[in-house]
Amino acid sequence: MQSKILLSEDQLPKQWYNIIPDMPGTMSPVIHPGTLQPVSPDDLLPLFPMGLIEQEVSQERWIDIPEEVREIYKLWRPAPMFRAHQLEKALGTPAKIYYKYEGVSPAGSHKPNTAVPQAYYNKIAGTKRIASETGAGQWGSSIALACQHFGLECTVYMVKVSYGQKPYRKSMMQLWGADVFPSPSDKTNAGRSILEKDPDNQGSLGIAISEAVEDAATHEDTRYALGSVLNHVCMHQTIIGLEAKEQLKIAGDYPDVIIGCHGGGSNFAGIAFPFISDKANGKDIRLLAMEPASCPTLTKGVYAFDYGDTAKMAPISKMYTLGHDFMPPGIHAGGLRYHGASPLVSQLVHEGVVEARAVPQTACFEAAVLFARTESIIPAPESSHAIRGAIDEALQAKEEGKEKTILFNLSGHGHVDMAAYDAYFANQLEDYEYPEAAIQESLSHLPKVG
Ligand SMILES: *Cc1c(COP(=O)(O)O)cnc(C)c1O
Repeated sequence: MQSKILLSEDQLPKQWYNIIPDMPGTMSPVIHPGTLQPVSPDDLLPLFPMGLIEQEVSQERWIDIPEEVREIYKLWRPAPMFRAHQLEKALGTPAKIYYKYEGVSPAGSHKPNTAVPQAYYNKIAGTKRIASETGAGQWGSSIALACQHFGLECTVYMVKVSYGQKPYRKSMMQLWGADVFPSPSDKTNAGRSILEKDPDNQGSLGIAISEAVEDAATHEDTRYALGSVLNHVCMHQTIIGLEAKEQLKIAGDYPDVIIGCHGGGSNFAGIAFPFISDKANGKDIRLLAMEPASCPTLTKGVYAFDYGDTAKMAPISKMYTLGHDFMPPGIHAGGLRYHGASPLVSQLVHEGVVEARAVPQTACFEAAVLFARTESIIPAPESSHAIRGAIDEALQAKEEGKEKTILFNLSGHGHVDMAAYDAYFANQLEDYEYPEAAIQESLSHLPKVG
């Protein structure tokens, strides 16, 4: 009975998969927040280095991973895949459950997979400093460690509620050399204008993005980095699914359903996109994105043009959105509290290629605890949404007496999130109702594009 399916370092993929040439339907343009016209690559140069802008719009299906990036990837990749024998036994399911484990990275999540190439392309373009935002701190710690490798300075605006809830992620960022500010901060116009109206504002990813974008746009030597949502981020994450495909070949299996949790869409894209061309070629395979019921972007949002941030400084994309000024409740899966979604994942949902499902947080913690007591790994609260999805699929297979092969992405470990588990065991976690009124109010502020 094999539990771990491992690849050697020389099996580390040499290319990322870019789904753009294989997308169903036509891609919508990205819109400039000031002019409301399509952006040109030059418009994006104050924010991103050319190497990443080119990847954002590339029509090449395969893009070489630079050797400098592969060398850093090898510190923890290829990541292991596991067959969840212990969990299967506990569920009494005929389903086979495989999971890819991204918690082996130094930051404990999948995010360094894109942080490292982003720092690399900035370095070769002459960037001195990266400004970015972070919710729960996984992205901030990932970009901080990546900047270290390439000798870049790093400034991170951290959503204030998480700055309080997750002090150790702040410590990790500082250890890896970053400057960290709770957002909204008094360092930017965007932050100051929010604090003026609401001094106790607990922050949101949208606000923190505004601060980081403003910092980058107003400093010549500084660029911005985003940990999710964008096309090039999703592409960097395909290393997860590309490795998973090789590992399943070794196991002699192929998935019926692939599951990932969904915040901005990057780890879901990472595990799912490399399988989508198989689906287009006739493979019977389902792709399932799991999101929190308190921030139900894909299941309750609208597919429309919206700003990427609260202060309307970031580009406008067509995506599923709850509205750029939607303030999600302070749930413990901080990495899933974003009002929008990857335009690529959004289009795939809109075209019916990808399914989405929303789940309340206590049901996710229940799944995470069962997982930790069977497979032993303590999952990140974000990842527990994918586990909930996998367990529900396995229980359905049991009910129907059907065999089924399930693959999910365990996007990170929860070692820095133990306060969330304490709150769960103390019955202090609430399941927030889908905040219909707040979403309707926020949706009335969408930009008028096209
Ligand atoms: C950030 C994060 C997520 C959500 O981000 P995506 O871009 O949707 O992947 C999920 N899991 C973990 C562990 C994270 O750190």
